[in-house]
Amino acid sequence: MNYYSLHHKSSKVSFRDAVVNGIALDRGLYFPENITPLNIDFFNHIEYFSNEEIAFEVIKQFIGDEIPQTTLKNIIKETLDFDFPVVKIDESINSLELFHGPTMAFKDVGARFMARCLEEFNKNNNNKVTVLVATSGDTGGAVANGFLSVKGVDVVILYPSGKVSDIQEKQLTTLGQNITALEVDGVFDDCQEMVKTAFLDAEIPRTLTSANSINIARWLPQMFYFFFAYKQLKNKHKDLVFSVPSGNFGNICAGIMAQKLGLPIKHFVAATNVNDTVPNYLKDGKYNPKPSKATISNAMDVGNPSNFIRIQELFNNDLEQLKKSFSSYSFTDDETRKAMKEIYNKAKYIADPHGAVGYLGCKEYLKNNSDAFCVFLETAHPVKFLDVVEETLKLKVTIPLQIQAILHKDKVANKIKTYKELKLYLNS
Ligand SMILES: *Cc1c(COP(=O)(O)O)cnc(C)c1O
Repeated sequence: MNYYSLHHKSSKVSFRDAVVNGIALDRGLYFPENITPLNIDFFNHIEYFSNEEIAFEVIKQFIGDEIPQTTLKNIIKETLDFDFPVVKIDESINSLELFHGPTMAFKDVGARFMARCLEEFNKNNNNKVTVLVATSGDTGGAVANGFLSVKGVDVVILYPSGKVSDIQEKQLTTLGQNITALEVDGVFDDCQEMVKTAFLDAEIPRTLTSANSINIARWLPQMFYFFFAYKQLKNKHKDLVFSVPSGNFGNICAGIMAQKLGLPIKHFVAATNVNDTVPNYLKDGKYNPKPSKATISNAMDVGNPSNFIRIQELFNNDLEQLKKSFSSYSFTDDETRKAMKEIYNKAKYIADPHGAVGYLGCKEYLKNNSDAFCVFLETAHPVKFLDVVEETLKLKVTIPLQIQAILHKDKVANKIKTYKELKLYLNS
């Protein structure tokens, strides 16, 4: 499969090159040249397929012959060794839990898949790839875990000192091996800026790549969740709607890809916190990216969502067409806390702030579409946002085993303050 750049100035590349490059030379995001709907029989019999078989059917056209089928099946198997349950909140609203992976955030799936693709591509050359990533929390942990001990790949993670939760910091800094954490004296934007500078710096002798959702190997496997949910909900015979708590809009964009492949999804709701660039665009047709604002659902504090351009491409850059199957609503922190309480009182279900924003998206949509059946994506386990959850719900969250296992480990991080120090590290 070939991929073109959405800036249309670079030439098309293979799946492999798109994964290794991350972003095209003209700074555009890669997009698949063809999207072929799956056979109707597949949807009619989806309940007879295992998650691994479904994933293979869904992803294979996007890779073509660039990874042998048996290898691809193995990659999928290693990526998906946990569950994706749908849990009932009320008659019309369900939660799709994406947090049963090793770092308890949905990003585990994309990070693991991308890591194993890179490993496969690098197996016959000695040229190591360095994954350089800035994180405000969840991405770093998922990438560190997904790439741990993967051959041919070094990972360097920059995170803002004192700005990530204790659990998130442990997930970044305790693994060792091929994972290095750099603790930056600054905020997330400083980390991001340093990473961008490094990508453009010709004096760095390493092959650098990114591991955020602009990379197709992290973005595309996110299609799987929507199929796994459909498999569990098929017999409901109702219009299926997904509400996706969105920051960079990679997850929801993967959902729209799933719909393109033929998955019967009636509508998408992109639920955001007060970072409302997309909800505003749907209202007045003006796309005005803004600096991000800090919220309690901080993995979605994004003022200029990088994947929105892919969503526009999927709707032929036609706003009216987009609006027919896509809505977007924004919610404040107060509304989010109230929703967390409501969900708990209603179903004794502990939602994290991101899931609660997704729940609010469902409620808003159902106001005018009472026949729909809405599933919100629960993108992180509540333990990842422990302070907010325990304070809002006045309870203690049980710490899951995979988190307990890292809490006693010692943090190892190199402190840096300037780009010069990052460069020194990368050149050492
Ligand atoms: C990354 C993240 C999101 C946002 O996903 P996008 O694909 O960037 O829209 C939502 N919730 C959590 C917990 C996340 O870590």
